[in-house]
Amino acid sequence: MKENKIEFHPRCMEFSPAVADYIIVHELCHTVHKDHSKAFWS
Ligand SMILES: [Zn+2]
Repeated sequence: MKENKIEFHPRCMEFSPAVADYIIVHELCHTVHKDHSKAFWS
Protein backbone atom coordinates (compact mmCIF):
# COMPACT_ATOMS: atom_id res chain seq x y z
CA MET A 1 0.00 0.00 0.00
CA LYS A 2 1.29 3.38 -0.98
CA GLU A 3 2.04 5.82 1.79
CA ASN A 4 -0.42 8.66 1.92
CA LYS A 5 1.82 11.65 2.35
CA ILE A 6 0.64 15.20 1.82
CA GLU A 7 3.10 18.03 1.54
CA PHE A 8 2.10 21.65 1.25
CA HIS A 9 4.36 24.39 0.09
CA PRO A 10 4.39 27.05 2.83
CA ARG A 11 3.37 29.67 0.29
CA CYS A 12 0.09 27.78 -0.27
CA MET A 13 -1.08 29.25 3.02
CA GLU A 14 -0.65 32.76 1.60
CA PHE A 15 -3.53 32.21 -0.82
CA SER A 16 -7.07 33.18 0.03
CA PRO A 17 -8.95 30.73 2.31
CA ALA A 18 -11.09 29.57 -0.64
CA VAL A 19 -8.00 28.67 -2.66
CA ALA A 20 -6.33 27.04 0.35
CA ASP A 21 -9.49 24.94 0.85
CA TYR A 22 -9.39 23.88 -2.80
CA ILE A 23 -5.74 22.79 -2.49
CA ILE A 24 -6.38 20.86 0.74
CA VAL A 25 -9.44 19.05 -0.65
CA HIS A 26 -7.59 18.34 -3.89
CA GLU A 27 -4.65 16.81 -2.06
CA LEU A 28 -6.91 14.81 0.28
CA CYS A 29 -8.67 13.38 -2.81
CA HIS A 30 -5.25 12.21 -4.00
CA THR A 31 -5.05 9.97 -0.92
CA VAL A 32 -7.93 8.04 -2.53
CA HIS A 33 -7.23 8.59 -6.24
CA LYS A 34 -3.60 8.91 -7.26
CA ASP A 35 -4.42 10.43 -10.62
CA HIS A 36 -6.72 12.99 -12.22
CA SER A 37 -9.17 10.48 -13.65
CA LYS A 38 -12.93 11.01 -13.89
CA ALA A 39 -13.25 9.19 -10.57
CA PHE A 40 -10.92 11.73 -8.98
CA TRP A 41 -12.85 14.75 -10.22
CA SER A 42 -16.21 13.26 -9.31
ZN1 LIG B 1 -3.83 16.83 -8.41
